[in-house]
Amino acid sequence: MAVASVQVQEQAARLIEARVPRNATLASLLKAHQVSDEIVNHFVESARKRFDLRRLRAEQPYRLQVSLDGAIQEFTYQIDADRFLKVVEAATQRPAEQPEFDVQVLAYEKQKALVSIRGEISAAAPSLIAAVNATGENIMLALEFARVFEGEVDFANELQPGDAFEILFEKVVREGHFGGYGDIVAARFTTGGHTFEAFRYALAGQKADYYDRDGRSMRRFFLKSPLKFEPRVTSGFSFRRVHPVLKTARAHRGVDYGAPKGAPVLSVASGTVVRAGWTGGGGNAVFVRHDNGYETRYLHLSAIAQGIRGGSRLTQGELIGKVGSTGLSTGPHLHYELLKGGTHVNPLDEHRKLPPGQPIPGVHRAAFLEHSSRAAWRFAGSGDHPVGRLARAVPAAQPAVPAAGDN
Ligand SMILES: [Zn+2]
Repeated sequence: MAVASVQVQEQAARLIEARVPRNATLASLLKAHQVSDEIVNHFVESARKRFDLRRLRAEQPYRLQVSLDGAIQEFTYQIDADRFLKVVEAATQRPAEQPEFDVQVLAYEKQKALVSIRGEISAAAPSLIAAVNATGENIMLALEFARVFEGEVDFANELQPGDAFEILFEKVVREGHFGGYGDIVAARFTTGGHTFEAFRYALAGQKADYYDRDGRSMRRFFLKSPLKFEPRVTSGFSFRRVHPVLKTARAHRGVDYGAPKGAPVLSVASGTVVRAGWTGGGGNAVFVRHDNGYETRYLHLSAIAQGIRGGSRLTQGELIGKVGSTGLSTGPHLHYELLKGGTHVNPLDEHRKLPPGQPIPGVHRAAFLEHSSRAAWRFAGSGDHPVGRLARAVPAAQPAVPAAGDN
């Protein structure tokens, strides 16, 4: 027993794990832990050779191990998500008050784990964000999931208790701790008896994209809505309604989405800006011309995004402005219009009618089907997808390989 207690004594040291306080310097931080001025000076001189000490940032975590006699044994400081500073007392014959230190800036060892979760919309978790939180994951994963299905599902207006999601995704683990999300590899969403599936897949020489189980691109001509996540239709398209400001019966030739001032407004499809600026009753507005004779209009904006002017080329999902209440408007909302061949049409109907995306080319179809089956099999609670299904999926793909004369 006596021997064991001596060993404990020898190893005894104070271990401090904390975050850098506001306005701290490396020296002030060490002195706060009763390290002598002389040792601090040696320490700071060594550390300075490898790391710009002005870059010490408040709130970043650090770890300090000090022996009982006040010597710094080890100090680590998280520089950013990827790197840390590590300072270790070097073994020398020098007196304790004149230590030498080995200083290194090191990369965190990162690992990507493939993780699968399953969750449900419920009274306790009525939104996608709440339901994803309930599984222990965070809002970033919920937003990414919503983006995968944005052409198919309106996550603000169409969710019901019992709607279920499964997500197979990469989770970055850094030194045993959560270090952010990688890609969503596969996702499934069941709502109102309908199941949507998406699989991330990269065709040779192309950027990865999402495809449904049949290999059709999830990308649609139009986004589901011009607002990212919160849209709620407050007034639909109609040929006759009382205007809230003018108090006269007139057609409402668009859709109103309730959204807070400043919420980002996105172009629902790629196209060219035909007008961006003040329009009177419509306030600040952006009009965009798209392929196939379509035009979209976004009214009452509080601000138009930088670089958006007549002639600007836009990609789908590009920021064009911020929600506001300019022009004839009673409060912050987005008035959104869709025209086809110069005539106003109901955007909600028109968006829904659009055909599914481009399919995976025939020559790649078998490989894709094998990939998607494997991914689906790894969903959480995959009891409904036994191994046998994976085995069957491969031969089933064979006829899709184009034979001679296949078109
Ligand atoms: Zn309106």
